[in-house]
Amino acid sequence: MTTKLDLHLEEALLPDGFASGVSLGVEDGVIVSVARDSVAPAGAMRLAGLTLPGLPNLHSHTFQRGMAGLSERRGASEDSFWTWREVMYRFLDRLGPDDVQAIAAQAMVEMLEGGFTALAEFHYLHHDKDGRPYGDIAAMGTAIAAAAGETGIGLTLLPVLYRYGNFGSAAPAQGQRRFLNDRDSYLRLVEGSEKAVASLPDARVGVAPHSLRAVALEDLPWIASLRPQTPVHIHVAEQMREVEDSISVTGRRPVELLMQNVTVDERWCLIHATHLSDAEREAMARSGAVAGLCPITEANLGDGIFDGVHYRAAGGRIGVGSDSNIEIGAGGELRLLEYSQRLRDRRRALWAEAGISAGVRLWQDACAGGAQACGRAVGRIAPGARADLVSLAADHPALIGKSSDFALDSAVFAAAALPVESVIVGGKPVVGGGRHIDRARIAARYGAVIRRLLA
Ligand code: ZN
Repeated sequence: MTTKLDLHLEEALLPDGFASGVSLGVEDGVIVSVARDSVAPAGAMRLAGLTLPGLPNLHSHTFQRGMAGLSERRGASEDSFWTWREVMYRFLDRLGPDDVQAIAAQAMVEMLEGGFTALAEFHYLHHDKDGRPYGDIAAMGTAIAAAAGETGIGLTLLPVLYRYGNFGSAAPAQGQRRFLNDRDSYLRLVEGSEKAVASLPDARVGVAPHSLRAVALEDLPWIASLRPQTPVHIHVAEQMREVEDSISVTGRRPVELLMQNVTVDERWCLIHATHLSDAEREAMARSGAVAGLCPITEANLGDGIFDGVHYRAAGGRIGVGSDSNIEIGAGGELRLLEYSQRLRDRRRALWAEAGISAGVRLWQDACAGGAQACGRAVGRIAPGARADLVSLAADHPALIGKSSDFALDSAVFAAAALPVESVIVGGKPVVGGGRHIDRARIAARYGAVIRRLLA
């Protein structure tokens, strides 16, 4: 039986700009009709103020939400990404599938309340505490899928292939034992992941070599060929040490090395890609791949600043992700992406272009790139797309008296968090009055898990 929903939006951001009085017909979670300057049909659900296409979150490790704020002290050595990674390894040593589901659900609630309606979960914590696979090798991925089912977020699950400790197929460390698979077990993991998401509406499974450090170069074309239509994600060139190790072991910079060993095209999402040579940046922009930028995590970890200005000028595609989930919010990621460019270049409105403000351009670019990276028809209010909608709180002080680009710019730049009123995913309301419909239960379960883990 077809499920139908009529919506009437006071104002909406459509692919070609802002429109008023927008009526949407939705069937089985998909937008089937869009009419502008229309009167609300009888019985339609009305959304006041400005409604945006929900933003896809193209990169996250949801379990890391549980350790947010635990690694802000200085270690004995020079503090960096690598000491943070040690804290992360110790934390995840204690997690089981139920804990992972509880933490993931809490992170997803915060994502939905923060304007993210789709999630590409880069999932690498697979095995039991001793490093042996669970009876169901995809038990952890199944926990992530269950959290998506509970919260309603649209899921692209990316089971991660992790084999080695560093470039040149170095042996993995003890802290990495729960991530490790060979090609045979990885294939079973992908199949298990496909089963895990089968009952979720419009979910996808992609593939993900963790990084050039963690797989052999021959694994890259192999993994891309496993499922020829699905997204392929990889961490690359996040840290200068990774660039230095890559050059010293292989004689090539990371993105150069990646592109030499596999065809990088629209299926690919290169996470971070912070440290690029001019030639790498040009080649990546030309490839059609998406740069998966995680500005808040990259700032928190001291990674560096992506050169969005030159990459955009070369036609490069971007999307944003909440990665470590140290802080969760669509507005905050876009704001910091723009601000990092301004701080470096000492100029304003770098993402703006003639006639289009920075907030609007950022939102639309990140929707398009995020949708591509998730491998789903999301990120736009148009026929054929999922009905993933975020309506802004028209009575929020930052938005009062504003519409169209002033409203969106104010939501991104003039409010601490994106002022969200309601969120609909696949035609289903999941956030009302700024709060997720199951927020209290999910937060209470999360609280019990964290109290136990930190005790
Ligand atoms: Zn990551």
